[in-house]
Amino acid sequence: MDIRHIDAEPTAAERDAIDALLGPPASSWDGGERGSERDAHTAVGGAAAREQRHLLVPALQALQQRIGWISEGGMGYVCRRLSVPPAEAWGVATFYALLATAPRAKRVLHVCDDIACRNRGAHAIEHELERTCGAAIAAEPRGERVALGEGDVAWMHSPCLGMCDHAPAALYTEAGESPREVLLGNVTPSSAVHALTRHDPGLDSSGTAVLPQRGDPALVLLARCGTVDPTSLDAYRTAGGFEALARARAKGAEWVIAQLNDARLVGRGGAAFPTGRKWEAVRARPETPHYLVCNADESEPGTFKDRVLLTQDPFAIVEAMTIAGFATGCNVGFLYVRAEYPLAAVRVQNAIDACTAAQLLGDFRIEIRRGAGAYICGEETALFESIEGKRGEPRSKPPFPVHVGLFGKPTVVNNVETLANVLPIVRLGGAAYAATGSQGSTGTRLFCLSGAVSRPGVYEVPFGTMLRDLLAMAGATEPTAILLGGAAGTFVRGDEIDLPLTLEDARAAGTTLGSGVVMVCGPGDDLHDMVRRIAGFFRDESCGQCVPCRVGTVRQEEALHRIAAGKTLGGVAAELALLDDVGVAMRDASICGLGQTAYSAVESAIKRLRLYEEVGR
Ligand code: SF4
Repeated sequence: MDIRHIDAEPTAAERDAIDALLGPPASSWDGGERGSERDAHTAVGGAAAREQRHLLVPALQALQQRIGWISEGGMGYVCRRLSVPPAEAWGVATFYALLATAPRAKRVLHVCDDIACRNRGAHAIEHELERTCGAAIAAEPRGERVALGEGDVAWMHSPCLGMCDHAPAALYTEAGESPREVLLGNVTPSSAVHALTRHDPGLDSSGTAVLPQRGDPALVLLARCGTVDPTSLDAYRTAGGFEALARARAKGAEWVIAQLNDARLVGRGGAAFPTGRKWEAVRARPETPHYLVCNADESEPGTFKDRVLLTQDPFAIVEAMTIAGFATGCNVGFLYVRAEYPLAAVRVQNAIDACTAAQLLGDFRIEIRRGAGAYICGEETALFESIEGKRGEPRSKPPFPVHVGLFGKPTVVNNVETLANVLPIVRLGGAAYAATGSQGSTGTRLFCLSGAVSRPGVYEVPFGTMLRDLLAMAGATEPTAILLGGAAGTFVRGDEIDLPLTLEDARAAGTTLGSGVVMVCGPGDDLHDMVRRIAGFFRDESCGQCVPCRVGTVRQEEALHRIAAGKTLGGVAAELALLDDVGVAMRDASICGLGQTAYSAVESAIKRLRLYEEVGR
């Protein structure tokens, strides 16, 4: 593709897909027919054109959903409609894994082969698909472009789909006038082939959350999950919904923030920054507008709690976002949900529409933005870039988002679980909320239990619960190792489970709670394979912007594969020393958390599990 200028014309279907999103073009300057008097004397550009840039990713997604891939003609039309240079649009389209820039079958099965699913049967699914449907397609195909027929199907490998409680999982996507996206759990080799070849994936299983504690009166964040209809505003209100918003409005914004400070609520996304301080900082900024962003781009392998909240209690997230907007002076909130959670997006949109119709949100407006398959967009500034219609590359900090965030304005970013905590804090008061947990870790915490457990799912327990007790709840009988915090976290040994689950205790023990992942490895699990998959994940998901991460993640994976193949450069000890050098460089010199944590799990496997001692030095 010529990335400076695109002559190819869009097809009628491509034009329809874009016009359905943007409306018909006003003149030839934005893709309409040339010839009117007005066209000859009017140029559209400058600030007015730039204001539309944030629609670039939704426009490319519209093409992907309608056609199955983004052709030169389709991209050219998008560029004309939004006044975006083709080179920039090409850069954006090629950044996101779920946007295809070469012909791709209309029906694709994305088979998760990440750390939870590969230990639960993903390879058997892949072998059967390969046998019956041919080899997996690559996300970025090279070589000759093959013309595809209407009935063609394809499958591809996928990173974690956030369905570890239903492992193994797959995502079925079908492009067309009525596109379909269906997230499938407990997939078998035969059900995968059936879904793909019969174009019959069945029902989305991401909303049928595994909730082992369903109905437990001690639940706070999960109290409504599985017991209150997530599609009904009436049911939510009957269960006490919108009482917190009414109380917040009655008491005032300063009171709300004071309760967050009294509650000592910290972010649940992994960084554990005090939420009240963040809200205070945005509220105090004189620049306007202020923006609120709910980070629902939950992509950390092993994490699926936000999926449960979004599909099972979507009205609560809408209510919490409205309180956050009220307290921080935001009139607009964006909820950025990962592409792999189609049902979550549908349920939250339904909740937004119902609440808007009932005039419950006041002058606060919520827009949903879908991710396009990039783990790095879970990093808050990469997420801003993505909403703004750019490649999801993290920004250097400072400036911090509370000063210069989305569209350059003061922005408060909270993840889904953090916002869910706002409701009980407003209802109970901050001091009462803080009575649960420890001094440094207040309230309850959601943990995602998966792997070698008999009762996988999301568990809500007070901070301070012992890891041993949590594992017992989930039916983990023989843990040989536990991955805490996800791929960016660390392994702990099976004899280290007398650990109180608080931020401070985890830190003191040299581990992290991260995003709440508790992935249990049992005697039959291949830990070496798991560590290599984690290294491959970071290599694949690095945005490539800074050298230590771009090069380091590749070198890390290469060294692990050399050890596995018995083809070390100078012996295992030399490879482990190299891994340590590379890991330290990534941690010290990377721009964002991805590079800074890319060695954490590998390092813990080497130093804590002593996984490579048996390999010999
Ligand atoms: S650390 Fe990695 S993911 Fe983060 S900005 Fe640098 S290259 Fe990108």
